[in-house]
Amino acid sequence: MEIKKVGVLGAGAMGTGIANLAAMHGLEVVLCDIHEEAVQKSVSRMERFMDKSVARGKMTEEEKAQTLKRIQQTTNMEDFKDVDLVIEAVLEDLDLKKSVFQQLDDIVPESALLTTNTSSMSITEIATATKNPSRVAGLHFFNPAQIMKLVEVIRGLETSDETIESLKQFAEQVKKEHVEVKKDVPGFIVNRVMIPHFIESIRLLEEGVASAEDIDKAVKFGLNYPMGPFELQDFAGVDIGYHVMEYFKEEFNDARFAAPLLLKQMIRAGHHGRKTGVGFYDYREEDK
Ligand code: NAD
Repeated sequence: MEIKKVGVLGAGAMGTGIANLAAMHGLEVVLCDIHEEAVQKSVSRMERFMDKSVARGKMTEEEKAQTLKRIQQTTNMEDFKDVDLVIEAVLEDLDLKKSVFQQLDDIVPESALLTTNTSSMSITEIATATKNPSRVAGLHFFNPAQIMKLVEVIRGLETSDETIESLKQFAEQVKKEHVEVKKDVPGFIVNRVMIPHFIESIRLLEEGVASAEDIDKAVKFGLNYPMGPFELQDFAGVDIGYHVMEYFKEEFNDARFAAPLLLKQMIRAGHHGRKTGVGFYDYREEDK
């Protein structure tokens, strides 16, 4: 099935990047958030992103203007009535996701695909909120979605082969590398690998084996990763990693995934990395 019009639900960090990406590749986009202000801020962020692309010669002013023209802004989910694909990027809350999927199921055409950008939650469970789980799948982009090359295409227990094939084609339309996650497991591929390395790095810090700076340095230069685990957690917001750890612990019934005490204490103290300006080590001034 060819995707021409995409509904993006949630105009936060991810919804902004995904909507911008789809519009830059010629797709019609409907961008919806419950807050009018969130939609406006989202479009301003896209403009700033594209201004940089124009300044670097990667895009013309005309292409920027055309991209913005393709994005319809709304706070009314009914505007998804003629989309081919929905990408949901609301908060990481299972009940909220199920509730919006139930509403979307009644709004979008029967042929439309329903996907979630969840970082870790069960696609199969989200799909139970709909009447036709065969059209529901995970489409996991990374932040910032305009730049990060990967998208994970995730199969829920009842996702059809046609849905997966259409989503792979969509990933190609927006010029992403895609991987198929054949089983609906918590964290899929990337987060399943990433979370244990976050936990081990925090444990090393707690044990006094090395400083956050030296652990980051060791991982960057020893493994050739572009960012160390603390830089990455501070950048993404340390609360995200924390919630994923707690979710893994519950789902796998495995204490291996329990959040280390230091991280728990940071969350209790309201330190959320980039979001609050205080992370594992105070974020560098120029990155705030
Ligand atoms: P965010 O907090 O930046 O944005 C969420 C947006 O959803 C907000 O603007 C909020 O107003 C809106 N929203 C809440 N309820 C809504 C509703 N009922 N209808 C419409 N809009 C609603 O969150 P984010 O970081 O963009 O994350 C979104 C999703 O993407 C989460 O599931 C998250 O786990 C996943 N994700 C995040 C990242 C990341 O690095 N931030 C990466 C990959 C995946």
